Amino acid sequence: MKRLEELTFNNTYVKLGEAFFSRVLPTPMVDPVLIAFNPDAARLIGLDSSESSRPEFLQYFSGQKLFPGSDPIAMVYSGHQFGVRVPRLGDGRAILLGEVAIEDGNRKTNWDLQLKGSGLTPYSRMGDGYAVLRSSIREYLCGEAMHALGIPTTRTLCIIGSEEKVFREETESRAVITRMAPSHVRFGSFEYFFQHPSQIGGVQKLADYVITEYYPEIEAAVEPGPERYCAWFTEVTKRTARLIAKWQAVGFSHGVMNTDNMSILGLTLDYGPYGFMEEFDPAFVCNHSDEQGRYAFSQQPGIGLWNLNVLAHSLSTLMSREQLVSALETYEPTFHEEYLKLFRAKLGLKQKQDGDAGLIAELLKVMEEAHVDYSNFFRVLGRLKLEADEANEKIFSDLLGFPRQDWRQWTELYRARLRGEGEQSGQGSINQSHDQNVTAQKAVNHSAAQNSSVQDLAREKRMNLVNPKFVLRNHLAQRAIDAAVKNKDYSEIERLFQVLRNPYDEQSGSEQYTLPPTGAEKNIQVSCSS
Ligand code: AMP
Ligand code: MG
Repeated sequence: MKRLEELTFNNTYVKLGEAFFSRVLPTPMVDPVLIAFNPDAARLIGLDSSESSRPEFLQYFSGQKLFPGSDPIAMVYSGHQFGVRVPRLGDGRAILLGEVAIEDGNRKTNWDLQLKGSGLTPYSRMGDGYAVLRSSIREYLCGEAMHALGIPTTRTLCIIGSEEKVFREETESRAVITRMAPSHVRFGSFEYFFQHPSQIGGVQKLADYVITEYYPEIEAAVEPGPERYCAWFTEVTKRTARLIAKWQAVGFSHGVMNTDNMSILGLTLDYGPYGFMEEFDPAFVCNHSDEQGRYAFSQQPGIGLWNLNVLAHSLSTLMSREQLVSALETYEPTFHEEYLKLFRAKLGLKQKQDGDAGLIAELLKVMEEAHVDYSNFFRVLGRLKLEADEANEKIFSDLLGFPRQDWRQWTELYRARLRGEGEQSGQGSINQSHDQNVTAQKAVNHSAAQNSSVQDLAREKRMNLVNPKFVLRNHLAQRAIDAAVKNKDYSEIERLFQVLRNPYDEQSGSEQYTLPPTGAEKNIQVSCSS
């Protein structure tokens, strides 16, 4: 593990040339203080965690001091914001300090170290270049929560705050986060070069760069030229489809799926007014500024494809129309395959069957009509017994409000499906481990009742590995924000960070973090203001 001064930089992006960015220095923060530090992210760049207690740590990550070997830039990009083309955006308040080079055996990776909220850049337009503590805490916690849920995402190394004031709807205090990702290149990066005819060569240059640096397996397998671009764009399409399927499965709404917030690596990028589904409603719009509901929860899969169409347009000088279409056509099947895989696991199903999509859709309909809490419901579903008894039925009638006909019908189908899997265990099953096979085999020798309770236990265990007990509910983030902003008490950020790091574990004593909001906490609104 390294000291701060030992981090080595290999700045690949600046080698693309000045058409791709502007050199700019961070605006030094006044009297910076460490608000949160993430040892997991530090490990990714080989940084010794104890370095966070050095005064230099604050200097480097608040923009006061430059790392030897860093080469700070703001990246240029454009994008479609709420469906409207904006010819030039760019890092208006983020500065890429440089790329930290990591060697792990034979593998070499670079991690972008980006300060977000570090002051004006040539792309700041009407903004001030800053970020507020509130939104910085939200970005920090959510990135880590998503990572722990197994969802590709940018990470955050630390939050640094200060007494400096920033004006939004009200006066707030300034903060800077250090965001990390293998790359911050976006769909909008390609749009920028496509939309500026004098720069059109930039599309190819950027595509070649992204393929070489981040898709080496495609570079190795496919000859240069349209075939290679098509293979790469197909992979971007599939990654995006799988990412959004994962969002849908955990009930995550991004909130601002503009093309400038779409990562070319298929990462969740830019945490603004996001939200985790609580009372299940497919029409849920987490972003208070999204009046039309363009980015409603149920719209996300379609918006993902819309955004890929915009990217396809920007890549149209690199390959034929047929190739672009063939890549885009992989989106829907990839999405559905991933979605069904994730939901089968959420239901504890081990086998693929034709009616699965229907079974899932029917359950979601019941959940919607019963207004259940999305995460808690899936967690409790693991306790459903194959042989219904009164106590077990009561768990669900309590949760659903009252005994429901649609629920009874659905559980009949579900139980029949589970019994079918029990009988044929080991045949055509997916993701079934040796242990599960052995467990199931032993169960054959037991009485029918014992058999079903063995199955119940194994299924609950499986389901608990994929249905999170803890998600970042807005009111939980807000409690951490309020303590930090009003009392300079940062302990709740750390507590929440620790809870969200193990979202599938029982974590006795942390039950309060599973509760939906009550009273005024129900009305917390999040908007684009950050
Ligand atoms: P976002 O909605 O955070 O994805 O930002 C969209 C665009 O606005 C990006 O180009 C940002 O860099 C820019 N932006 C957002 N907030 C600010 C700010 N406070 N100052 C300057 N630029 C900003
Ligand atoms: Mg953005």
